[in-house]
Amino acid sequence: MTDDYMDFHEALTAFEPVLGLETHVELGTASKMFCSCPTAFGAPANTQVCAVCLGLPGSLPVVNGVAVESTIRMGLALHCDIASWCRFARKNYFYPDMPKDYQVSQYDEPLCTNGYLDVTVATDEGPRNFRVEIERVHMEEDTGKLTHAGGDTGRIHGADYSLVDYNRAGIPLIEIVTKPIVGTGSLAPVVARAYVTELRDLMRSLGVSDVRMEEGSLRCDVNVSLSPAGEPWGTRSETKNVNSLRSVERAVRSEIERQAAVLTEGGRVVQETRHFHEDTGRTTSGRSKEHAEDYRYFPEPDLVPVAPDGAWIERLRSELPEIPSVRRARMQTEWGISDFEMQALVNIDAVELVAGTVAAGVDPSAARKWWTGELARVANERGVDLASLPVTPATIHRIEELIASGALTDSLARRALEGVLAGEGDVDQVVSARGLTLVSDDSSLLAAIDTALAEQPDVAEKIRSGKVQAAGAIVGAVMKATKGQADAAKVRTLLFERLGVAE
Ligand code: ADP
Ligand code: MG
Ligand code: ZN
Repeated sequence: MTDDYMDFHEALTAFEPVLGLETHVELGTASKMFCSCPTAFGAPANTQVCAVCLGLPGSLPVVNGVAVESTIRMGLALHCDIASWCRFARKNYFYPDMPKDYQVSQYDEPLCTNGYLDVTVATDEGPRNFRVEIERVHMEEDTGKLTHAGGDTGRIHGADYSLVDYNRAGIPLIEIVTKPIVGTGSLAPVVARAYVTELRDLMRSLGVSDVRMEEGSLRCDVNVSLSPAGEPWGTRSETKNVNSLRSVERAVRSEIERQAAVLTEGGRVVQETRHFHEDTGRTTSGRSKEHAEDYRYFPEPDLVPVAPDGAWIERLRSELPEIPSVRRARMQTEWGISDFEMQALVNIDAVELVAGTVAAGVDPSAARKWWTGELARVANERGVDLASLPVTPATIHRIEELIASGALTDSLARRALEGVLAGEGDVDQVVSARGLTLVSDDSSLLAAIDTALAEQPDVAEKIRSGKVQAAGAIVGAVMKATKGQADAAKVRTLLFERLGVAE
């Protein structure tokens, strides 16, 4: 029955979705949450560990002040209340990803509570706002990374052996948990995506994390339930560790389609964790959560409580940077674009790319045209986010520079970009490797013009007799002969000169 899916729109005529998003973000601190080990990504396994993060007997943790400050700043940016006193808690469980056999987290005393984040999504009737309420923002430490080798799924079942890397164990994390999000209807998948996007941008603007989803520094657990209109909320499934914006949207959509089929056939949704698969866009069943695990939480006895003083909190509040929605409003004015055009940039996650391109010195309308046109089309075709294309604001800047200097025409510029997108190198490398230089010396252009005139004597005659619009056929032939590497306007001028006709 889990293979059955109901059409998305049909599902939403019968049921209302409720969402809940739990987002884990690795903070960008130089050292770990409770020790001085470095946090750099990509180091050889188990080279960034010490007695504290390995949980060796007798070692004692010390709280990373920068991590506390980052959490408070995030809480403030989300309009949360900041606790004046709270404690860490031990979450006890036995699993090799956590060498201490417990994770230090926060349980019933989170640092930040009761906030919200406003998001905007595009609908057929124009942009629509949703206020996503935040239940809590708390601190914890990341676990180690297990690699299950030998099986074909990469999961523990069927693996021959497992490897563990504790470099990640103890890296500061914040978890941001939403209250149940209701009333989104068929916009549920895009609201979920918009929320994670906005959260990511907020963290980036605060500088608390580099929020690179592809490196796993932002991961999202996606809770979805369905119930018939007006009835109590249904049982939720929790799809774990979804790690791209696109996948968040697809996971919500897939769960709506799956649960609707289960409920319509008279079945019941099981409370469980699920895994999302990029290739199929579907989730599969993980661990049942019907019998809640007992983590035996208790206050962490090795750490003092966190008691941020009011003056510090107020200073942090006053020093918060411009938040993304305010920044977007400012950009919109600077770039002279409409709400609709800005929303289009948000939808394809192009605001920062356009801003970077403008900052590199490109005219805003040209910057916007590249990212929303050619590049958006390619990203869509490849099924990837714009930011993961091998093109940067500097690429666009170089291309525009070459167009402005007359070294490239628009069509040559498109071919240069095509080469960069195909991984052939940077703009200059592609231009030289593909020989994308403009044929501009008069003698070779005149030779091509003479050939074209000789091949189409009737057209030549028409132009001579004053039918200037016939010139298009000759210019076209010259462009073809030069493989698009001639300046069409120049060809036209030379053609009229050749025939002694006034334009
Ligand atoms: P757990 O530890 O089981 O993951 P949490 O309380 O940490 O539970 O998070 C549950 C998430 O699911 C929260 O974002 C919450 O708002 C959301 N949620 C709660 N009930 C429902 C429901 N019926 N349908 C969808 N989401 C829900
Ligand atoms: Mg959870
Ligand atoms: Zn350590």
